[in-house]
Amino acid sequence: MEQISESASDEAGLKPLPKLTVPISERAHRFRKCYFPHATQADWNDWHWQIKHSIDSFERLGEIIKLTENELSVQNYLKITPPLKITPYYASLLDPDDPLQPIRRSVVPVKPEYNYSPFEADDPLGEEKHRPVRAIVHRYPDRVLFLVSNWCSVSCRYCTRSRVIGNNKRYKLDLAVWEEGLAYIKANPNIRDVVISGGDPLTLPDLKLDWLLSRLRLIPHLEIVRIGTKIPVVLPQRITPSLLRILKRYHPLYMSIHFTHPDELTPEVSHVCKALADAGVPLGSQTVLLKDINDNVDTMRHLMQGLLKIRVRPYYLYQCDQILGSSHFRTPVAKGLEIIEGLRGFTSGYAVPTFVIDAPGGGGKVPLIPDYYQGRDENGVVLKNFQGLTYHYNDGLTLKEIAR
Ligand code: SF4
Repeated sequence: MEQISESASDEAGLKPLPKLTVPISERAHRFRKCYFPHATQADWNDWHWQIKHSIDSFERLGEIIKLTENELSVQNYLKITPPLKITPYYASLLDPDDPLQPIRRSVVPVKPEYNYSPFEADDPLGEEKHRPVRAIVHRYPDRVLFLVSNWCSVSCRYCTRSRVIGNNKRYKLDLAVWEEGLAYIKANPNIRDVVISGGDPLTLPDLKLDWLLSRLRLIPHLEIVRIGTKIPVVLPQRITPSLLRILKRYHPLYMSIHFTHPDELTPEVSHVCKALADAGVPLGSQTVLLKDINDNVDTMRHLMQGLLKIRVRPYYLYQCDQILGSSHFRTPVAKGLEIIEGLRGFTSGYAVPTFVIDAPGGGGKVPLIPDYYQGRDENGVVLKNFQGLTYHYNDGLTLKEIAR
């Protein structure tokens, strides 16, 4: 493995920032040499360079992976939503020869995206009807989603906010829109928790992010701020010393990181997650359950245990939302329950995420739990443990008392 040192200066002119040694894995190194032969190691580790050189055309993608008929045919469609976009770093993880490789399936468009099922929608969670102002989705009493960017560095093919990504007309999330959002939060003292989302908020420049976080911190009733992002996974180069210094200023600040598959747990990702944790940011993971990508117990156990090793606490496992053209990704709900049953008791409790369905139309997250509670009999509560064995817990109530 090669190491590269990046020194950074503090944009506020304070103390010089520590050097951040960003590893470049052998795989990424070979990839850079092959597909970006003029890029230096410093280029590769510069997040602006990564964004500028993102793969956003089938021509370029076809130079990197052997595109199949199923993948190639998509370029004939007028509009690809969300647009094709893959950072060079993330592209280095794609298998050039295997169209069924999990990571490749999650970011390379295929024909079935154009088969819409009757229950699918471009806004499956009914977020539009819960938008009191343009930047805010307000669904729960004490917390809101603050949409601050319509941009992502990588487009996931199953994205719930496909309608937002790259849509500058309908979702122009500029400073004026942010001000509306800030004013809304300020005017609602019941809001104690804000999730900054989009798009991906960490694609914003440092200055803007700093400004936004500082404005949020001025709101006295706001207790915590969370950032929802996939950046540490698809563009780890973005986690610079300067960004870490900004984040440190606004605690308590949490981060929910979108992970899909254990192949994403590279030395680069491990490095930046540890750096974020060292900066005092509690990290949680969010994973969408996807057919033939991560829908088995072994893959999910590897992912969840791997996350704990890099100090990310598994948080949510989502049933795939009913976004337009997502049937080929969707598993039966029983599959998620089977996975949770295969984890609970067989690995650390910390490695077991909560399986949820975000209820279509805006009902919020509904947790689903396997049947460990089996009812009651004359001996008390009947419980089934992780091995399927039955136990009783006598909580002092008789059936007669309960019937009363
Ligand atoms: S990172 Fe999140 S918001 Fe961005 S494309 Fe993927 S799922 Fe959508």
